Amino acid sequence: MIQIRDILRFVRPIVRSTNAEFEIQGGREQPSPRSFSLARFCRVMFSVAVWLVAYAAPAVDHGAVTIIGVAKVDITPVYPIRLSGYASRKTESEGVAQHLFAKALALGSDKEGPVILLTVDNTCVPATVRDELAARLRRQVNLDPTHLTLCSSHTHSAPCLAGNLPTLFGAPLPSDQLARVEQYTRELIDALESVTLAALKDRRPGTLSWGQGQAGFAANRRTSGGPVDHDLPFLAVRDLKGNLRALLFNYACHCTTVGGVAFNQVCGDWAGYAQEYLERDHPGAIVLAAIGCGADANPQPLGKLELAQQHGRSIETAINELLSRSQTPLRGPPVCRSSAIAIPFDPLPTRLEWERKAAQTNYEGYYARVNLAKLDRGEVLMTRLPYWISTWTFGERQ
Ligand SMILES: [Zn+2]
Repeated sequence: MIQIRDILRFVRPIVRSTNAEFEIQGGREQPSPRSFSLARFCRVMFSVAVWLVAYAAPAVDHGAVTIIGVAKVDITPVYPIRLSGYASRKTESEGVAQHLFAKALALGSDKEGPVILLTVDNTCVPATVRDELAARLRRQVNLDPTHLTLCSSHTHSAPCLAGNLPTLFGAPLPSDQLARVEQYTRELIDALESVTLAALKDRRPGTLSWGQGQAGFAANRRTSGGPVDHDLPFLAVRDLKGNLRALLFNYACHCTTVGGVAFNQVCGDWAGYAQEYLERDHPGAIVLAAIGCGADANPQPLGKLELAQQHGRSIETAINELLSRSQTPLRGPPVCRSSAIAIPFDPLPTRLEWERKAAQTNYEGYYARVNLAKLDRGEVLMTRLPYWISTWTFGERQ
């Protein structure tokens, strides 16, 4: 029997490792606690889910049939827009190197209460977007909000979303640029709603199985030679004839092969290319990517678009090799369990320390000025991060 304390023992090191992940050119940005919570939650949730799959799946469970649907939607912006992830970019995007997608996997019948996993090619989808989506799906199809899990691929070459990393650029966005960010955010919510409903509509009997390989391009970005997680678990969805319908893989690594002032184009980075190549290899199948606890890992080498494609091919090759072997069957749909915790921040700067930081002309200075303004208004700065943890358990053994 897996106890909650075992799960938390697994989760806590991840939580520490994802702290203040948005290191950007020239230094580290102070995170926006609310917008970080969803991204962290998604990474932790998926990693815990994979962990539970690994340790809780039945050893033999051939023939288990699950009701499964999958869908995808193109979310590439059709206008220039500020891309998130790097403070050094000072202008809106300059073209599209690769299209972006949102994809949805729906497991379970209406009677069972379906569970949804969404993957989104974006730096970070803020909690406000997830909450709006959950409310819409509750109204439309009575989806249990705790059954909705959303994972960002964390590409640093996707549109900025309203309310996410609002101090990243070191100054308020010009009104016309902010209007386009808000427009894209509204369009994204509509797209996430439509792709989820499409996946629910697509549901039909199929089978689930999983396997795990390795890919070696993730490197610790904090400590040279420090710990990394090279595991590459995947979930395969097949129809009753054995044809691949969907594939969900997880690899713990930032999508930062390209970026900064040298690359201001829309792109899914290595995760985008891995999805693209695998969908090309398996016509008709939809491939979803999650990056697990990847905040402390960067792809290596990095700096060129060709390297993002090379890393994508590494995933493609490893997954295809795994697919050529037998996988472990799973019984679905998973049982979802969710719980909210609050993670304390490091001690906040004193007012004097905020004032010293505020003198800087970079994003750190702007962040300090924003917080000083809050203090001047009598507001209290957050000292804890609301943190939502979900687990998905496949099968009857626990
Ligand atoms: Zn990042």
